[in-house]
Amino acid sequence: ERTPLIAGNWKMNLDHLQAIAFVQKLSWALKDARHDYADVEVAVFPPFTDLRSVQTLLAADKLSLKLGAQDVSPHESGAYTGDISAQFLAKLEAAYVIVGHSERRHGHGEDDATVGAKARAAAAAGVTPVICVGETAEDLAEHGAAAIPVAQLEAALAELPKGAEFVLAYEPVWAIGSGQAATPEQAEAVARALREAILRARGEEAAGSTRILYGGSVTSQNIAGFMRQPNVDGALVGGASLKSDEFSRIIQFKK
Ligand code: 13P
Repeated sequence: ERTPLIAGNWKMNLDHLQAIAFVQKLSWALKDARHDYADVEVAVFPPFTDLRSVQTLLAADKLSLKLGAQDVSPHESGAYTGDISAQFLAKLEAAYVIVGHSERRHGHGEDDATVGAKARAAAAAGVTPVICVGETAEDLAEHGAAAIPVAQLEAALAELPKGAEFVLAYEPVWAIGSGQAATPEQAEAVARALREAILRARGEEAAGSTRILYGGSVTSQNIAGFMRQPNVDGALVGGASLKSDEFSRIIQFKK
């Protein structure tokens, strides 16, 4: 019932010209493979400066790839130098926006309240937030795997109005960019705990329909194991989303 979502977070990679070339290559690879986007949804999350170029390309070529941004302001508009509003993203037909990525939480001091406010601003503009949660290696040693991600989710949901659609991404911080992915069983255990938290906070329908992605050193070699888990509905891919062949193999995890 939940359509799998494979999402590529480019982080601060590929300028707008490289983005156009990349998206063309990716869409050709998926066309060659006769990829069914209704079966597995695909989204790319380029830097802000690429969004307009990628949007134009997707529209001109009627490509079924979805577009997302990597961050958003919690504010609607005004004197917020350097910030990008959810309305701007909506105007660019961004379907998704990542909020609370660990690189924002840790590198830019974003707390749970800010992450929740960003998710709320996105939802208000009709852009689905991809809420990222995950524990550090220290958290894991101290609290186990699920406690911190569940607390981060609950804090974000406290800010997000009931009924607002969201995607959840479980990204253990120790697995990001480390080559040390969680095992499918570890990912499933936390995804299950997160789904139970959605059930408590939002009820049965939301718990059944919300997609939970795993992120952290996902490759074409390990994707199938994650996708076999009942509570894992997709992946948020960093490094491996920057090579069109590799990302296309990840998208075709069933084959
Ligand atoms: P890597 O796939 O490079 O580990 O990055 C994961 C990530 O942070 C995606 O948001």
